[in-house]
Amino acid sequence: MENDMYDAIIVGAGPTGLSAALWLGRCRRRVLVCDTERPRNSASQALHGFLTRDGIAPAEFLRLGREQLAPYTTVELRTIAVTDAERVEEHFRVTLADHTQVETRKLLLATGVIDELPLLDGLEQFYGSSVFHCPYCDGWEWRDQPLALYGAGEHGRAMALQLRQWSHDLVLCTDGPAELDAADLALFSRLGIGVCEDRIAHLEGSAEQLERIVFRNGKVLARRALFVITHEHQHAPLAQRLGYRFSPNRLMLRTEGYEQPDIPGLFVAGNSVRNLWVIGAAAEGAEAAFLLNRSLLQEDLARERLALMPLS
Ligand SMILES: Cc1cc2nc3c(=O)[nH]c(=O)nc-3n(C[C@H](O)[C@H](O)[C@H](O)COP(=O)(O)OP(=O)(O)OC[C@H]3O[C@@H](n4cnc5c(N)ncnc54)[C@H](O)[C@@H]3O)c2cc1C
Repeated sequence: MENDMYDAIIVGAGPTGLSAALWLGRCRRRVLVCDTERPRNSASQALHGFLTRDGIAPAEFLRLGREQLAPYTTVELRTIAVTDAERVEEHFRVTLADHTQVETRKLLLATGVIDELPLLDGLEQFYGSSVFHCPYCDGWEWRDQPLALYGAGEHGRAMALQLRQWSHDLVLCTDGPAELDAADLALFSRLGIGVCEDRIAHLEGSAEQLERIVFRNGKVLARRALFVITHEHQHAPLAQRLGYRFSPNRLMLRTEGYEQPDIPGLFVAGNSVRNLWVIGAAAEGAEAAFLLNRSLLQEDLARERLALMPLS
């Protein structure tokens, strides 16, 4: 059984999983990486803020990551979903979408999250090209342009105040009551941030370029880009199946050091656990791989020591 067993199965080959695979490959570990090729930023046209790769197409970034795994012959990459996983004795039994089962000593979940976009007619057409959710990722490209932010209440307030860093021509569209108090409204007025409570009918533009927001009352607001506030949910239910507990914001509860004390051998890293940019996700993958390898090493050494002990 031991010979058929992987040292690690990594679920997800986004920046987190690929980075972990690279380090585990360098540690000469036998690794299977399974991926469904649906990374969180697949709608995006350019990945920003990654040192030496600023502006690269997200798909090209992942292609390079996969290409650089090629020399590490102990790492196997498969395009397949992991549909289930269970802990069996000291290891994990992992079920793949083709119903085959594989065994592994350690399991790393790097499955990421899925964004829940606001239900705005026309949004999907522009998402990733002129509708965005992260001003740090995409604000610079739209600096000094006419921008809108979709959101209300505390979230809308906080993000509008951030977004003004990139453009002073900013309107907060709350699509109903703004839920801002008099002090907030006075601050917005002083900073020149418009507030529009009119109900939105749809977004309009040509190809991938947003041009205007059309309101139900017939009003039209010309804008070059729109930022929205999103919520996320886990991409894969595997952690729940393994007995994982979730925090109220639906990201996994991180405990010390990536490995879960309740479920020994289970490691989680990347966007599943917390909001991270790509560079942070890659760093988490690397660190999780280091700790996973260390855990394997400790087990291996304990076994060798046991073998040295005289039989009584
Ligand atoms: C529109 C948009 C633009 C962004 N722009 C930037 C940017 O410019 N710069 C930046 O730093 N960050 C950006 N981000 C954030 C970036 O997407 C994340 O930091 C990054 O994707 C997190 O990497 P990850 O590996 O944790 O998850 P992901 O990249 O989401 O990868 C998870 C992988 O797991 C796979 N998977 C899930 N479940 C299973 C399963 N059951 N079996 C097998 N495979 C599975 C998925 O198919 C996916 O390939 C952006 C995000 C969005 C939404």
